[in-house]
Amino acid sequence: MTQNTTTRLLIIGPPGAGKGTQAGKIAARYGVPAISTGDIFRANISGGTPLGQQVQAIIERGELVPDELTNEIVADRLTQEDAAAGFLLDGYPRTVDQVHALDGMLDGSSLDAVVLLEADADEVVARLLKRAELEGRADDTEDVIRHRQDVYAEQTAPLIELFSERGILVPVDGLGTVDAVAERIANGLDAQLSARVSH
Ligand code: ADP
Repeated sequence: MTQNTTTRLLIIGPPGAGKGTQAGKIAARYGVPAISTGDIFRANISGGTPLGQQVQAIIERGELVPDELTNEIVADRLTQEDAAAGFLLDGYPRTVDQVHALDGMLDGSSLDAVVLLEADADEVVARLLKRAELEGRADDTEDVIRHRQDVYAEQTAPLIELFSERGILVPVDGLGTVDAVAERIANGLDAQLSARVSH
C-alpha cells in the first residue's frame, strides 16, 4: 500500500469544545468513521456490559479510564474493516502513554493531522452546564466538569506540543456557530493534508 491512501485524523480539545459535533462532520467530509472512546464507553454503560460496569464509576467521577483498558478497546476497534482506509479519532489518545500505544497500533505509519479545537475555560464550562440540562450526562455536574478540565490540563494538554513537534497540528478556534467552526476545520485540514501529498 502506498503511503497516502489513508486518512488518519484526530480531534483533540478540552471537554465542551464541541469535538463530538465536529467529529461527525469531519468524518463525513473525508469518508472515514468517527471513533469516539467516550461514545464507546457510554454505549457499554447503557448496555450494561462488563466493560460498562468496569468504567461507569470512573467516568462519573470525571477520571480517565486506565490506559491499558482504553488502548485495548481502540486497538480492537481499529482492526475493523471500516477503519482500514482511515478514521477520525475523538477522545483518544488522551495521555502520552496512549500516544505511544497508538503509534504501535499504526505500525510505522502515523496520524496525518490533528485538529486542536480551542475554546476558553469559561465558555466550555457554560456549554457543558447547558448540555447537562439537555442530555443529562452523568459526568456533566459542575464539580465533575471542573475535574475533567483539570484532568485535560494535566494529562492531555501536553500532547499538543508533541503533535506540534511532529508537524501535524491544525489549531482551530472553536468559538462561533457549528457551521463556521466546521468550515475553519475543513480549510485547516485540507491545507494540512495537501501539504502531506506534495512532500
Ligand atoms: P469530554 O467531552 O469530556 O472530552 P468524552 O466523551 O471524550 O468527553 O469522554 C468522557 C469520559 O470517558 C472521560 O471523562 C473519561 O472518563 C472517559 N474516556 C474517554 N476517552 C478516554 C481515553 N482516551 N482515556 C481514558 N478515558 C477516556
